Amino acid sequence: MTRRSVEVAIVGTGFAGLAAAMTLRDAGHEVALFERADRVGGTWRDNTYPGVACDVPSHLYGFARHPEPDWSAEFAPGAEIQAYLERVVARERLDTAITFGAPLLDAAWDPDAASWRLRFGGAAPAEVDADVLVLACGRLSEPRIPSVAGLEGFAGPIFHTARWDASADLEGRHIAVVGSGASAVQLVPQLARTASRVTLFQRSAPWIVPRGGRLFTADERARFAAHPDELAALRARLDAEGEARFASRSGGADAAAAASAAARVHLEAQVADPRLRELLTPDYAFGCKRVLLSDEFYPALASGRVVLEPSALAAVDGDELVAASGARYSDVDAVILATGFQTTRQPYAGFVRGEGGVTLEQHWAGGMTSFGSSVVTGFPNLFVLNGPNASLGHTSSVLMLEAQAEYAAGALARRGSGGVLRVRPEAEQDYTRMVDARAAGTPWLTGGCRSWYVDERSRRLTLVWPGTVADYRATVASADGSEFEPATHRTTAPAVPAERGRTP
Ligand SMILES: Cc1cc2nc3c(=O)[nH]c(=O)nc-3n(C[C@H](O)[C@H](O)[C@H](O)COP(=O)(O)OP(=O)(O)OC[C@H]3O[C@@H](n4cnc5c(N)ncnc54)[C@H](O)[C@@H]3O)c2cc1C
Repeated sequence: MTRRSVEVAIVGTGFAGLAAAMTLRDAGHEVALFERADRVGGTWRDNTYPGVACDVPSHLYGFARHPEPDWSAEFAPGAEIQAYLERVVARERLDTAITFGAPLLDAAWDPDAASWRLRFGGAAPAEVDADVLVLACGRLSEPRIPSVAGLEGFAGPIFHTARWDASADLEGRHIAVVGSGASAVQLVPQLARTASRVTLFQRSAPWIVPRGGRLFTADERARFAAHPDELAALRARLDAEGEARFASRSGGADAAAAASAAARVHLEAQVADPRLRELLTPDYAFGCKRVLLSDEFYPALASGRVVLEPSALAAVDGDELVAASGARYSDVDAVILATGFQTTRQPYAGFVRGEGGVTLEQHWAGGMTSFGSSVVTGFPNLFVLNGPNASLGHTSSVLMLEAQAEYAAGALARRGSGGVLRVRPEAEQDYTRMVDARAAGTPWLTGGCRSWYVDERSRRLTLVWPGTVADYRATVASADGSEFEPATHRTTAPAVPAERGRTP
């Protein structure tokens, strides 16, 4: 077991961890990143299922400081996004700051040393002391495996979309796909091309709008490379369009009516069979769950190559799958779980212990709360990215993650050397009340769906930021440091001598 001490420890190397690393390093901090996997990328490393792609325009789904002229398509395939993230790390020379194969197993605030004691597992276990801890562990990183009687006894291949088994032979097979959310909508049309049959278990129908998504020509890509101003103008336009989508997703009456009408027209144009159309018509308000984009999903279902089971998978009986409706599907060769992620309860919450040994899980017993979607009362010098109320349903998450990283840099600048940032309880309570007031009456809470945006314990909206990105930026820009207790400083020497810069 090695020991070292760092100024800022960042856990996770997806978009969030990398945004934090670049921003905090620019602000003069010494950053060290820790990643449990053997590569950066997070979502885009882990999701390799056929059809995986972003569903916000590629030119908006990237770091502002690393515009990419070479996206092949309006919605880049996942592998391109992964390659982009790896290029960014190389360009920024961040690789030497990253320790791979280092899962964070324990994090405890040490009040005497005024620092975080971190314990990492993996092949080279390490203990790290960090003045500041940034949790950038993602919120769509832990697959949600449904509890289905008999599932473990299924003899054929069975895996989650985020743990794709490329060795499984799916061609000419009968494949069951469980779930009809964002991943399934991308995957099913691909599977339907080569499988003998796809049976899709759909608990509730998603809202789907037309996608488009043309390929960029070589000339266009060369032009973007030669004219950064054009690339910047495109990003600005996409940003404005994305922000404008907020109204339809958050219940703006006219915007939601127009967008849901477009979705219905899309369904009618692509599915002729009235019975199938009915099964594919959502029975909840537009925007209540993530709105999906696809031009291929409905045609795949209408093609006859996909059987739509309009209920959940309830049990597995040998190679027979039993639906909640009672329908049985036999001779199933493989089961693919497109069942999403554990979003409201993060695994790290159980082992991150703040003041008085209280865990994040305890603090968040009624659902995640924070100030600025980033800092938490009782957890000094801690920043959580992409945690409480930091997801977006209308535009690129990267915009939010960059804004969170900027907020962290600003807060640390106020802290001064060796200072401790303690969030005042009233600041967290006021922020939570503001989030709740914004969320009240929106389709996220009243739209009649069951969604991963909402905490199952409190029924509060704890995942989504209920505003535009500009609203978020304005909210945290107006935070003047009064969200923290008057700065206190470390009074005793750190218990572990500083050995900055040594890798564990
Ligand atoms: C299939 C799919 C498609 C998506 N498409 C879009 C899209 O089009 N637009 C959009 O805005 N968003 C999209 N998202 C959301 C996407 O997750 C975010 O945009 C973004 O990639 C999240 O980045 P992150 O760094 O917060 O999390 P992640 O990318 O999940 O990265 C978290 C990292 O933390 C690491 N980690 C976790 N726990 C530990 C630990 N204990 N110790 C060490 N390391 C740890 C993980 O290994 C991972 O590398 C999509 C998500 C999925 C799953």
